[in-house]
Amino acid sequence: MLHIPSGIIQDMIAHARELAPHECCGILSGKQETVVECYRITNILATMSKQELSRFDGAKLSDLQRLSPEERADIAFQMDAREMAMAQRDIRTKGHDLLGFYHSHTFSPARPSQTDITIAMEFESYRTKLNLPEPLHLIVSLEQAAHPVIKAYRIQEAQPTEISIQPTG
Ligand SMILES: [Zn+2]
Repeated sequence: MLHIPSGIIQDMIAHARELAPHECCGILSGKQETVVECYRITNILATMSKQELSRFDGAKLSDLQRLSPEERADIAFQMDAREMAMAQRDIRTKGHDLLGFYHSHTFSPARPSQTDITIAMEFESYRTKLNLPEPLHLIVSLEQAAHPVIKAYRIQEAQPTEISIQPTG
């Protein structure tokens, strides 16, 4: 169970709508299972080189290379590393923990894509070395524009498991 203030849920939906059709992304911090703060992070995928794109799985990679930068950002995301580091410093300063990452799916359901799982597994490989807490992965779906859906997942050994979200205050 993840507790999220309704205001932060509204912020994530607003962020997704502002960037649509591109995907938005960000970080959630807090204590134990309660989210306290939301950090919007720039999606830099639109400006990535082909070499940087090589981390994506084969079928999706060839799709991505055919697309314009704007089209690429519609279907995937990559967080700006400098903004992520600044957010993580702020989280440490406040004595909070990094609880999770969020991003949006403009035209698809709130389920992790194969690329999302690949990115989560890459994070896992260095997270365990750095001894950081396990993050949740939240997806804001705008598939039904009038009825946005947010779901949270643990992703372990490439298997997503849904974690229920409890809106608070
Ligand atoms: Zn995704």
